[in-house]
Amino acid sequence: MSAPGIIVAGLRKRFGTTLALDGMSFAVHPGLVTGFVGPNGAGKSTTMRVVLGLDAVDEGTALIDGRPYRRLRRPLTHVGSLLDAAALHPGRSARNHLLWLAHSQGLPGRRADQVIEEVGLSSAARRKAGGYSLGMRQRLGIAAALLGDPPIIMLDEPFNGMDPEGIVWMRGFLRSLAAQGRAVLVSSHLMSELQDTADQLVAVGRGKVIADTSVTGLIEAASRNRVAVRTTVPA
Ligand code: ADP
Ligand code: MG
Repeated sequence: MSAPGIIVAGLRKRFGTTLALDGMSFAVHPGLVTGFVGPNGAGKSTTMRVVLGLDAVDEGTALIDGRPYRRLRRPLTHVGSLLDAAALHPGRSARNHLLWLAHSQGLPGRRADQVIEEVGLSSAARRKAGGYSLGMRQRLGIAAALLGDPPIIMLDEPFNGMDPEGIVWMRGFLRSLAAQGRAVLVSSHLMSELQDTADQLVAVGRGKVIADTSVTGLIEAASRNRVAVRTTVPA
């Protein structure tokens, strides 16, 4: 089995009197969609922020391909993330936003047009982003996350604001990201959005994992893709 793309081990974090993370631990593997599901306030967004080095922890470790985020060589092209619907300059087009981001990351401008196509925004890419629906903003945020062709992708509540057609598209899109060999971590407060899409589900509540189907999920994914998985724990 390939090494995990993301490892979260024993994260604990307090905000004042709130224990936001209480021993959060799980792993995210390349080639699989890992669904991160739990009610609002369970600690999903905080966990993702910790993985990205945006929040400090009181205890525990978060590693990306074996390193803390701050020690990745090219973090922005290593980890693509959607934390909130994109912050937009309302007067600029989606394409302008992406061209600017590509430029600021040292990427060629054609990447902007490629990711616009990938997320299905081609027909709207030259319109002012101020008129975008929340679902379109989510697509733009995902396009931005994909600019650097990252092997690791974290999407926080990408189904928010999506209409039924967008949800169907998002499910297939997440599958295609994993089929390209990427490690995909996607959060939702609704099990229904993830259960048919994710290869493994990490269910959380009150800052910790309450159920993790990674073993059965891995076996199923492996049999679908005809790859061998070692299921015994090495001595
Ligand atoms: P989820 O994404 O699963 O809805 P969060 O990670 O956003 O959960 O929040 C976990 C807990 O931490 C909640 O109780 C939330 O109110 C609290 N929390 C998150 N961020 C902050 C913050 N910046 N300041 C204070 N409390 C926070
Ligand atoms: Mg959240």
